[in-house]
Amino acid sequence: MIRSSIALLLLAGGTVIGPVGGFDLVVLGGRVMDPETGLDAVRNVGIQNGRIVAVTADSIYGRELLEAQGFVVSPGFIDLHSHGQDPANYELKAADGCTTALELEVGTADVDAWYAAREGKSLINFGTSVGHIPVRMAVMGDPPGFLPPTDSKANTVPATEAQVEEITKRLRDGLRRGAVAVGFGIQYTGAASRWEILEAFRAASEFGAACCVHMRYNGRKEPNSSTAALEEVLAAAAVTGAPLHVAHLHSTSIGATPRHLRMISEAKARGLDVTAECYPYQAGMTKLNSGVFDGNWREALEVDYKDILWPATGERLTAETFEKYRTSDDYAIIFSIPEAAVDAAMASPLVLIGSDGIWDPAKKQGHPRCAGTYARILGRYVRERHVLSLMEALRKMSLGPAQRLERQAPMFRAKGRVQVGADADLAVFDPAVVIDRSTYDEPTKPSEGFRWVLVNGVPVVRDGKVTSKELPGRPARGPVRD
Ligand SMILES: [Zn+2]
Repeated sequence: MIRSSIALLLLAGGTVIGPVGGFDLVVLGGRVMDPETGLDAVRNVGIQNGRIVAVTADSIYGRELLEAQGFVVSPGFIDLHSHGQDPANYELKAADGCTTALELEVGTADVDAWYAAREGKSLINFGTSVGHIPVRMAVMGDPPGFLPPTDSKANTVPATEAQVEEITKRLRDGLRRGAVAVGFGIQYTGAASRWEILEAFRAASEFGAACCVHMRYNGRKEPNSSTAALEEVLAAAAVTGAPLHVAHLHSTSIGATPRHLRMISEAKARGLDVTAECYPYQAGMTKLNSGVFDGNWREALEVDYKDILWPATGERLTAETFEKYRTSDDYAIIFSIPEAAVDAAMASPLVLIGSDGIWDPAKKQGHPRCAGTYARILGRYVRERHVLSLMEALRKMSLGPAQRLERQAPMFRAKGRVQVGADADLAVFDPAVVIDRSTYDEPTKPSEGFRWVLVNGVPVVRDGKVTSKELPGRPARGPVRD
């Protein structure tokens, strides 16, 4: 719960009439849903200077009125796993109800430069982890890039003791500069030893920062199974005390997802701080020229060449075309996740939502999860299939992500809530209509059903349309310690 430091209300006969001149903006008569307090009732929301200053059944007025009768008013969604961090991606995210996009899995090696590049230029709030992948690439001497290619030093060369020390020093530096977590993609840095990963968890633990991890192996095939991979990071969390957040559990664990949910729940019952994450699709996406396709990936992922879609041409791959494209820098979409794995993850209270989305405007390649994750959960998993309740979905998409990060980044205590004192990041949507429109063929079709989306009190979606007249996004960042 949060407390307001703002006391602007004038009380007249028990009716809240707002500050002199009215609130900056008022959301009138919507069904306000707050996952922390459980409030689910028709309320008016008053907003002043980017913050929520009234949530009330009384009449209030403001200089701008948004009529929200029949709509749900929920906290704006906080995407824990958003690789797309540019204006084109932020527009798609806004149209999907997302008010904060966080790059926590890959992250950055230069936290100051990452925030500086977006400050004052962003439609929605933005934040990053300091990433073990880019830090390892820099320390091992690879050229910078989004993911290390399969033949990179980051993926193939074990670090010396001095290099491990340098990697962990840079992770600590990143946390001191306000990174909100530490990111890992162990499958992309296959040469990183268990000891190196443990040292990186130690660095995160000193700050109470969550380790957001794409695990080392996929699937059920031993000895390099995703169960061994989950044991590695659960052990690292137990040994070091660092909070653990398992990225896209379902796309790594595939058929073992229900077993891994049980392992995480048991670890939690023994006092470990563990969460996981999923997106509502049966296909993943990554670079074909990456560690995901090292070794016997067909056996691990329980797929064949034909299960890979190649967005550059629209074709499905064969053994021949796989070899032909393996060294290209393009994305591959892999249909590898059973529906039961998605449903099990979606229904579990341990699992939060992260889209893992990116739309690459230069390549014109992407996965529909970038534009459609949140509307898809609300439309298909909540409304049509009843896999989870509306309030539980909102918790997984807003409050849960905020709570995951507030130890390292206390500013998240004011996000993910519709409460007095919270940041006015809100999603106002029609629960009877909201739906994703993006597809594998057309990944940038915006979601429908969001009437207004507010970022720090400024509408970035108005009457169902994204408007980029103002750029109210602010850094979502931990405290900077020198
Ligand atoms: Zn990943």
